[in-house]
Amino acid sequence: MSGYFTDIKDGIWTVLVGMTITWKHMFVKKVTIQYPDVKRELPDRVRNRLYVNMDDCIGCDQCAKACPVNCITIETLKALPTDDLGSTSTGNKKRLWMPVFDIDIAKCCYCGLCVFPCPTECIEMTDVFEFSEYHRKDLVYHFGTMTPEEITVKRAEVEEYQREQDAKKAAAAAAAAAAKKAEADAAAAAKASEAANIPPDTTAPVS
Ligand code: SF4
Ligand code: SF4
Repeated sequence: MSGYFTDIKDGIWTVLVGMTITWKHMFVKKVTIQYPDVKRELPDRVRNRLYVNMDDCIGCDQCAKACPVNCITIETLKALPTDDLGSTSTGNKKRLWMPVFDIDIAKCCYCGLCVFPCPTECIEMTDVFEFSEYHRKDLVYHFGTMTPEEITVKRAEVEEYQREQDAKKAAAAAAAAAAKKAEADAAAAAKASEAANIPPDTTAPVS
């Protein structure tokens, strides 16, 4: 019977201890927030989602080379002499078309190593951290600004230009080889003609 009353006493005591802790917390500052309606202020140098300002990107590939997990994919096309791509806000001349500039943020480890080598400071970490998706493929961000049609046209132009340049180089090399051969033939002919005109050496001792 005494155990019965001891249990009741312990029960009341436990409730009292619990309620004391609860009451104490009624008067201290709250540590929880009503996320997502309320959001914490993030530190200045927070590292979250990446952003690339393509107006300032020169396609140098430095960011992709620095990435330890290879999540940046860049493809470039050399601009033709007739193309004017303008300059970046930092004054760097743009010389490359960029059909592809993708960042697979699902692979990104937010190390920030891609940000530092950028010569035009156009790739940066933002404070955006809410970018969950239903499909992994949606976590590949396409920063390239060329449309598929523009890419096809530009690729054909660049290939055509390259073919012309290769043909010109081959023609120049063939012309140079022909000129060299003609020069060698002329030198050989002159040598032969010179040899034919030399009188016999009569001063040589007869054996
Ligand atoms: S933050 Fe790091 S892992 Fe992410 S893209 Fe940049 S270099 Fe790669
Ligand atoms: S380092 Fe900067 S300029 Fe170079 S490709 Fe990357 S984002 Fe563009």
